[in-house]
Amino acid sequence: LSIGVPTEVRTGERRVAITPQNAAVLLKKGFKQVLIEHGAGFQAQFPAHAYEEAGATLVNATRVWTDSNIVLKVRPPRLRSTTLSPNNFISGLREGSVIISMLQPNSDRYKNVIDTYQSKGLTSFAMDMIPRITRAQGFDVLSSMANIAGYKAVLEASNEFGRYMTGQTTAAGKVPPCKVLVIGAGVAGLSAIATARRMGAIVRCFDTRAATKEQIESLGAEAITVDMEEDGAGGGGYAKVMSKEFIEAEMRLFAKQCAEVDILITTALIPGRPAPRLITEEMVASMKPGSVVVDLAAENGGNCEPTVPGQLIHHKGVTVIGYTDLPSRLPTQSSTLYSNNITKYLLSMSPKEGHFGIDNDPLFSSDTDLVQLNDEVVRRSIVTYNGELLPTLPPIAPP
Ligand code: NAD
Repeated sequence: LSIGVPTEVRTGERRVAITPQNAAVLLKKGFKQVLIEHGAGFQAQFPAHAYEEAGATLVNATRVWTDSNIVLKVRPPRLRSTTLSPNNFISGLREGSVIISMLQPNSDRYKNVIDTYQSKGLTSFAMDMIPRITRAQGFDVLSSMANIAGYKAVLEASNEFGRYMTGQTTAAGKVPPCKVLVIGAGVAGLSAIATARRMGAIVRCFDTRAATKEQIESLGAEAITVDMEEDGAGGGGYAKVMSKEFIEAEMRLFAKQCAEVDILITTALIPGRPAPRLITEEMVASMKPGSVVVDLAAENGGNCEPTVPGQLIHHKGVTVIGYTDLPSRLPTQSSTLYSNNITKYLLSMSPKEGHFGIDNDPLFSSDTDLVQLNDEVVRRSIVTYNGELLPTLPPIAPP
């Protein structure tokens, strides 16, 4: 079986799905060849010779798509021609081929991609649908990327901030430590706390889930609270929608905090919903001149009113960063972790060397409409099987 790795063509995307190290692993595991598009790893600092030394074959884009049985990508493929990708290479994929990438199958965003998978009879998997259960932790790209986003958010903030993060006493004067507020203590929020603490900042954090208090404190930050009993824990370790009264109470808390802190990092999300709007324009305007806000929820509508997704703007003396590509801004690291995740995932479906199969074939019960799959991780992340669209399943709770 041949594996293909195209260059990512979305503007600003610098990641690559497979590193040279993982190309060597796949070849060792018996895959016949790993076809890498010329330049695929370039922006993530993986040069062509590193792939060649790993035993991979460098080819042009057309060959990646026409000669591969399994295509590995970060972003869903483009279906229209662009300057960077002048041909519609997906048309080169043979019926029955497999494509694995992030996909967001529940949003309308990539509906045309899924339609094409159906019409071309492809089998496809969404890395971002893999259930976040203990057994699948090695495949969990959402955690890998959120961890990087939290880290990079602090670095982007400190780049824009005109002072040290840490406090210092020098002959020239005493420098107070920077104060950071993090909203949301999921994977990205905890990573932001750890990074800001390592840089010497004073950090406080608010989350609606009571279980996060211990995690926040274990990283040396202060868990701030509102005086209400309501717990935000929903299914699967995720947050639920809070009552109007609770949101009002936390916004009163944030209004006070905004006047005090120098850097605000917001990460609050609720699965399947627009991001809760927690920081108003007035709150941002009340921050000290030179303060910085990084809104990690920008892609889902933003936690802050002034956020412009994908952009850095200045709002009444405060810098508001709404970048939606933070993992891609650390391309070597994010490619390495993504590649490890996707390689482990692929190998979990390769029961024999150089083989690819789900539940060791046969895969589906063909006599009923309801498709059965034994492996829960596969069943929840598979989107189409030989062109048949499978219904997505609701998230499940980690054990
Ligand atoms: P997320 O990105 O969906 O949300 C980020 C954070 O925002 C969450 O902590 C949430 O509680 C918080 N939030 C939501 N509304 C808020 C509000 N109004 N105010 C303040 N905070 C608000 O979360 P995530 O990072 O994807 O992870 C969520 C959970 O999943 C965590 O508990 C994590 O431990 C769990 N998880 C488990 C595994 C596993 O393998 N068992 C793997 C990954 C994540």
